[in-house]
Amino acid sequence: MSNTLPTTSREIQLAARPTGAPTAEHFALVERELPAPAEGQILVRNTWMSVDPYMRGRMDDRPSYIPPFQVGAALEGSAVGEVVASRAAAIPVGATVSHFAGWREYAVLDAATATPIDTELAAPQHYLGALGTTGLTAYAALTDVAPVRPGDTVFISAAAGAVGSVAGQLARTLGAGRVVGSAGGSAKTALLLEEFGFDAAIDYRAGDLAGQLATAAPDGIDVYLDSVGGEQLRVAVQALRQHGRVALVGAISGYNGATGAAGPDLFLAATKEATLCGMLVNSYFPIFGEYIGKAAGWLADGSLRTRETVYTGLDQAPAAFLGVLSGANTGKMLVRLG
Ligand code: NAP
Repeated sequence: MSNTLPTTSREIQLAARPTGAPTAEHFALVERELPAPAEGQILVRNTWMSVDPYMRGRMDDRPSYIPPFQVGAALEGSAVGEVVASRAAAIPVGATVSHFAGWREYAVLDAATATPIDTELAAPQHYLGALGTTGLTAYAALTDVAPVRPGDTVFISAAAGAVGSVAGQLARTLGAGRVVGSAGGSAKTALLLEEFGFDAAIDYRAGDLAGQLATAAPDGIDVYLDSVGGEQLRVAVQALRQHGRVALVGAISGYNGATGAAGPDLFLAATKEATLCGMLVNSYFPIFGEYIGKAAGWLADGSLRTRETVYTGLDQAPAAFLGVLSGANTGKMLVRLG
């Protein structure tokens, strides 16, 4: 181990729990002492971190599938970084790893909680996007939760975002006959058509969602990947064909509310013999390696195109997070560190 290792690290802590939409005041940038790695541990200099909509739920103190963030403690989430010191034979100095100790510049980790990544296969930040849980979510949703069959009409919400932009292209690869996406604003709907290969795009902020979807998919939809909940889910269930399938992936329209967004007409879903199925990406970690192999191939052959929105510096992480909740991103929202 070198003797020029850092002894402190800056991190973003939760300063207070928000009611409604969070603001910069709910975060604090704090410098803390960094312990030396113990036997079996590594010291990682984070280079990229992910900010994700689900983190909004962790700011609230309520039971969920993942524990809440603690006031006065660092936030956490997916990140990649370079190993600058190692007391673990399995992960040498110089390796690039992905792990879950984001929102800080340096992290001391048990080596078993870090995964070496192949930066020859793809750039490190892809492991937070198309080759990360983002891409795996889209893949699991459309292959297992609401499987796409050849010729299907597929509707994707938040389609210019990280999961949605991968999902639209994946739907095509899986044989969809028509792919429709929704996003906020004309710049994003243009991007869906021109960059991500959607057949039709809906601007949900322009109103008349049901009318726009009927125009985009005149014969209805077979599969809906829902990232938004609320009105988009209600309208999508109305547009489902018999035996339609819905992957309940997220419900961002309700994340800042106390009770979540109002839901669809479930009796209508019953009469359509529809399947509405929730999912958590963690359940698909056993196929992560297999997925990365496939997706790296799609990136390399150009059948999967990605966009990133990058904020630079740890101090910008709260702004990036507030931005992903309000649509400041196209593609994957990332923070570049160091
Ligand atoms: P993202 O789509 O890159 O970013 C979120 C997007 O949501 C924003 O860019 C914004 O785009 C849109 N949005 C914000 N408020 C909205 C509203 N009220 N109505 C409609 N759209 C709104 O984020 P992501 O990481 O790919 O995640 C997408 C969804 O998947 C989220 O709901 C997330 O929680 C969920 N997710 C679930 C799992 C799982 O395991 N179940 C895993 C990963 C992600 P516009 O500009 O178009 O509004």
